[in-house]
Amino acid sequence: MAGYSKLRERMVDYQIARRGVTSRVVLDAMRKVPRERFVSKGNRRFAYDDSPLPIGQSQTISQPYVVAYMAEALALEGGEKVLEIGTGSGYAAAVLGEIAAEVYTIERIKALADMARVVLEDLGYDNVHVQHGDGTLGWPDQAPFDGIVVTAGGPEVPETLKHQLRIGGRLVIPIGGYTTFQQLVRVTRVAEDEFDTEDLIPVRFVPLVGDEGWPSEHLSRRRASTPRAANDPDETLGR
Ligand code: SAM
Repeated sequence: MAGYSKLRERMVDYQIARRGVTSRVVLDAMRKVPRERFVSKGNRRFAYDDSPLPIGQSQTISQPYVVAYMAEALALEGGEKVLEIGTGSGYAAAVLGEIAAEVYTIERIKALADMARVVLEDLGYDNVHVQHGDGTLGWPDQAPFDGIVVTAGGPEVPETLKHQLRIGGRLVIPIGGYTTFQQLVRVTRVAEDEFDTEDLIPVRFVPLVGDEGWPSEHLSRRRASTPRAANDPDETLGR
């Protein structure tokens, strides 16, 4: 089997650049971050597959293409301040950390936040700050942000997050049903109280659970009736 750096190069060329991601800063970042470090030892051999992978707690590390697509949708050029909701493994935060000056990332499951913090520290990402909590409420002390990316699917765009964007800043978030596919949307704050919304691509993500997301009772009811598979995918359609 080829070494991880070879596999990473191939991932960027075949799964990402060939599908139309052109942002130089995003492609360079995806070439640098060792995805194998963000999955369990048992899953390392799948780290550069074109798919999400289970990370425990019924959550996933997103498909590499989706991570790159969402980072490109933020239209970062380098040097920005970015907020991520849904740290998960910490992989996307590391990718953003290669581009932005500072990355603030929030995870609602403490065990995942703790694990991601350790890996990010170990890899030297001292510009990535991990917090355990409900990301739908944002990180008010650090607002405003140039970009906000939400890596879990909500019923609607959280008003609090919209108002933590600087004017000209962009928020990228999957919006739609709890069990069905969602639409990835980009919201740009064009003036103090004016926002433009664009539809991007269909995606499927795990639910955004919180005050301005899905209620947690919804989650426990659903777990009781139809348990979500550990590797339930979050991925684009038809690619
Ligand atoms: N970005 C992650 C990565 O690179 O591994 C993948 C994230 S996973 C698809 C979505 C994550 O969002 C899960 O870890 C889930 O626990 C988290 N999440 C869901 N609702 C949240 C909320 N309100 N605040 C923070 N995290 C939340």
